Parts: sequence; C-alpha cells; structure tokens
Amino acid sequence: MDEPTTDLDPIGKIGVFNIARKLHEEKELTLIIVEHETEEALNADRIILMEKGKIIKDGKPREVLKEVDLMEKIGLMPLQIPKYFSQVSNLEKADLPLTYEEGVQKFKELGLQIDEGKYQEILRREDEREKSYGDVIIQAKDVEYVYSNGTKALDGINLEIREGEFIALLGHNGSGKTTLAKHFNCLLKPTRGSVIVYGKDTKNSNVYEIGNYVGYAFQNPDHQIFADTVYDEIAFGPRMRGCTEEEVKERVAEALKAVDMEGFEKEDPFALSKGERQRIAVASILAARPKVIILDEPTTGLDYKEQKRMMELVKRLNESGHTIIMITHTMWIVAEYAHKVAVMRDGKIEMYGKVRDVFKEEGRLLELSLKPPSIVSLSNRLGKTFLSVEEMVSCTKR
Ligand code: ADP
Repeated sequence: MDEPTTDLDPIGKIGVFNIARKLHEEKELTLIIVEHETEEALNADRIILMEKGKIIKDGKPREVLKEVDLMEKIGLMPLQIPKYFSQVSNLEKADLPLTYEEGVQKFKELGLQIDEGKYQEILRREDEREKSYGDVIIQAKDVEYVYSNGTKALDGINLEIREGEFIALLGHNGSGKTTLAKHFNCLLKPTRGSVIVYGKDTKNSNVYEIGNYVGYAFQNPDHQIFADTVYDEIAFGPRMRGCTEEEVKERVAEALKAVDMEGFEKEDPFALSKGERQRIAVASILAARPKVIILDEPTTGLDYKEQKRMMELVKRLNESGHTIIMITHTMWIVAEYAHKVAVMRDGKIEMYGKVRDVFKEEGRLLELSLKPPSIVSLSNRLGKTFLSVEEMVSCTKR
C-alpha cells in the first residue's frame, strides 16, 4: 500500500490500518506499507528507512523510531516523545520512551519538573496575543445551510473571527468545514441566519466583491491551477480585476516573493512538485491582496519538510497581518501553528477556543475521534498543556 491514508481524516486512517492489521493477523498476509508518518509506523513489525535510493536503516520499530536525529536529518518527523527525552536527558537511545504513557513514567523516574514560572510566562504571552487582535471581521449568526439535495450541512453555527487571528477548523470528513469556509467568501450563502464579512451581509453581496477581502485556496492545487506558466497563473486574478500590466507585474513579483518562489515565472506549474504547486496556489490568492486567507488542507500530500515549509509561510502571512482560516486534519500543525480552533461535527461547532484550552480537553476530543499530538498527551498527564516539543523542553527543569 502506497501512502494509503494520505487524504483521510483520523477515523478513516484508523479504519484503513485496522483492516490492514486484521488481514495481516488473520490471513497471514505480508504487508508492505509506504508511509512518511512516523506515528503510523509504530504498529509495524519492521521498519525500513530509505534515503536517496539506499536503505539506511532496517529494524524493529522500537529501535528505528528512537533514531531522532537520523529521522530529522532525512526529513521525517521524529516521534515527539523520544525527541523530547533526547533533549532533556542523557538517556541512551535504547532507554528512550516511545509513547506518552512510557513518557509519563520516565519523566517521574528521572525526577524532571516543569518550571511553573516559565509556563505562566507562555500563558501570559498567549493572553497578550488574544488582546492584540483587531475588530470582528467575520461573523456567522445562527447559520444553517441545506444543499439542494436536502443535506443539512450546517446547523446553527455561531462564530466570530477577529482581524489577525489564525483559526483552524477541525472535524471529520463531512462535518461541514468546507461548507462553512465557503460561506466566508460568499461562495455559499446561508439558507437561514446570516454571515457578515467586513460589515457586509453576504446575502446582499457576491464572490467578486467579498473576494476583495477573502481569498480561498482550494484543497487540491490542481483543481485551481490552469495556466501554462506560473506568471500567468498568478496574474489571472489581478488581470480579472482590471489591473494594468504594470500593476500585474508588481503583484506577481510580490506574491512570488511571499511564497519564496522568485524565479519560477516562466515554469509550467504542472511540472512543479506538489509542495511548489501548493505554494503557487497560495501566491495566486495573494495576488488579489486579500486580508483574509482561507486554506483548505494546505499540507495534504506533502512530506514533513514540505509541510513545515508551507506552514512557516502561512505563519509569516499571519504575522504580516493576514487573518488565517485553515481546514486541516493534522493535529500537530494545529498545535504548533493555529491560535484558535473550532471542532465541528454534524454541521455544529462542538468545541471552540484557544488551541491550548481545547487540546487540554483530551477526553472530549477523543469523543470526537480526535487525538492530540503525543507531547500534548504527555504534558496533559503532568497537569500542564504544551503544544510542541520545543515549548515543553524550554520549561523543563532537569
Ligand atoms: P467537510 O469539509 O468537513 O468534509 P463538507 O462541508 O464538505 O464537510 O460536507 C458537509 C456535508 O454536506 C456532508 O454531509 C456532505 O456530504 C454534504 N455536501 C457537501 N457538498 C455537497 C454538495 N455539493 N451537494 C450535496 N451535499 C453536499
């Protein structure tokens, strides 16, 4: 199976791996799975690591997955628990814990402690960020949406988004994330209730007008890209909006710079890598100079290095003043990059708040079939909520 779960939500992933395991156990089937997500590899009997056409490691998961530095070197995301312990202790590789349960025990065994002052400082900075947002720019009031076939996709949505926020929409396939996001740029209008964007009720507006404020990058860049050259692709929006060729040129240059792809003007977008096509899709949104950017699963199908690159770009855009609304299934990305999160189920928002507050409620997340990253689970067991390995390392007293 070649990356069998790339486009699936967490439930779908578990389903595929359960079937694989069942086949393997009951039918004595030999399974070879090509995968770049290390968490998934924990369940294998044997892991083979490859780089540049060579096998560089071949062994049991308990051995291979402790190779934190090697993983990082070849561009794989190392497991968070061994990564954390390799940074805060002198443990031999063989003694590194792998799961958060093992991590809790090891944390206590080693007599490690969390520096309360430093933790409070993180919370204080977060509160400050919360206060720094601007006005409410998107407001959904009692929004209901029913598709023409009778499917009720949104059911009583109330949500306010302030200028400068970075909000992630989480939830299973079919929970309503895309339908909701499409209301924010007027691709859809509510069946009942209202959506106000920059003071305009979308009922009395259209995609063209709201598009001045809100850009929407679709899930699959190949559904968006159509031009023969990168330049024409990005130039399309500004040309549509009647910009002079001079201004078009300026905007294309600005957008390519923002996504770190200067010099690609003459390339055929379809000949680029998935990560590059994804960035071109974002650049073509940026060329319209929107204030709000909606990203629908911007990291799907990208490997760890490309995911990080994409997310660092999104972070920069947010820091330069863009409000970000991102649909994703990738929990570590929500933890490390988003400020706020809304978790959807059956057209309703089930959980909403600061990422740290929502990820603290692990039992509730589990009920919604979502599992936070293992460093979050480890720290929750210790009475604090850390969102990344770096954050927890910075607060660990040895
Ligand atoms: P998500 O983005 O969370 O996967 P969607 O917003 O795509 O969820 O879908 C929400 C619900 O609306 C699902 O039940 C889905 O099947 C349905 N739906 C989505 N698009 C359409 C459509 N064009 N016509 C009819 N039903 C749709």
